[in-house]
Amino acid sequence: MRTERVGWANGILIQSEETRLLLDPTLGRRLHEDQHIFITHAHSDHTYGFNTAAKKYSTRETLQIHQALKDREVKNAQTLKVGERIRVDDTEITVLNAGHMLGSCQYEVATSEFTALYTGDINCVDTLTTHAAELRTCDYLIIEATYGHPSYIFPRRSTMYADIVSWTMSEIREGKIPTFQVYSSGKPQEIVRLFNIYTKIPVVCCPTIARASHVHTDNGIKLEYFDLSTAEGKRTLKSGSCVYVTTAGRNQIPRNASRAVTTGWAIHRAFRKFTSFPLSSHADHNQLFEFVQKVHPKKVYTFTGYSDILGGEIERKLGIRAGRLPVIAQTKLLDFKATAT
Ligand SMILES: [Zn+2]
Repeated sequence: MRTERVGWANGILIQSEETRLLLDPTLGRRLHEDQHIFITHAHSDHTYGFNTAAKKYSTRETLQIHQALKDREVKNAQTLKVGERIRVDDTEITVLNAGHMLGSCQYEVATSEFTALYTGDINCVDTLTTHAAELRTCDYLIIEATYGHPSYIFPRRSTMYADIVSWTMSEIREGKIPTFQVYSSGKPQEIVRLFNIYTKIPVVCCPTIARASHVHTDNGIKLEYFDLSTAEGKRTLKSGSCVYVTTAGRNQIPRNASRAVTTGWAIHRAFRKFTSFPLSSHADHNQLFEFVQKVHPKKVYTFTGYSDILGGEIERKLGIRAGRLPVIAQTKLLDFKATAT
């Protein structure tokens, strides 16, 4: 029986005759230090692998953001640059920009039999902090489908930036503190940069976002903000004439806050008590479809979000076989030697 070369095994599995690589592993599997895992970016749903004993690969920025947020050093990790190529046994792995957040990458895996491209989370347009995802032709494309439904088409980024600034100005005029409730890394730094470039409004960040932002400035992304853990940060927030960017919940934000979220889901969903902007770090439907069209692989595996809908459309319109990743049973992964949990 032929072994599947690409599949799902508590993470994306890509395997050749000699080598088995696990990319963005999820919880539920313990890994040995001689196993090789590749992490695409620093969002917490992709970084479980940093907690395993396996040999871990990521970009330096991804490792730095993860360590800054967790305040813990990761052992047995090797950092890679975008454009770098490394070899693991008979397999060559190339790191490509994913455009999703600072340090985010895709992995191209080349064996003697096939090439596979795993996108992780991608964004195919430039933002104020990232460049559009790179394209690479391949036999197997494993692509995210978060916004893979044809109704998810985002406005131009410049329009969304203008809408955010205009709403912010009007809230400040009303005596409110425009407050963006976001994850700790990626989007918040784009928001900080947006206000730095287009306005003179001071920006205050909660301490968690300030830690991730510090990694950005260390890596050449100019950001000006006040850290709420400092006296100056507290004073600025209290003055009221500022923007607040925070991961905090409702109880920890100022009473005169006017709250906003920035997410692609805002295309269809209203968020009670929030103003919402469809500013996403992911590709929208059209970007995903075009990406597949340009890469033109022999087979596409879609994962997360609207994977079936995007897969169906790819088959219908592009005539490329597409479907979900096959689940590969652990018994077929003898080399992974999962330890008893
Ligand atoms: Zn992500």
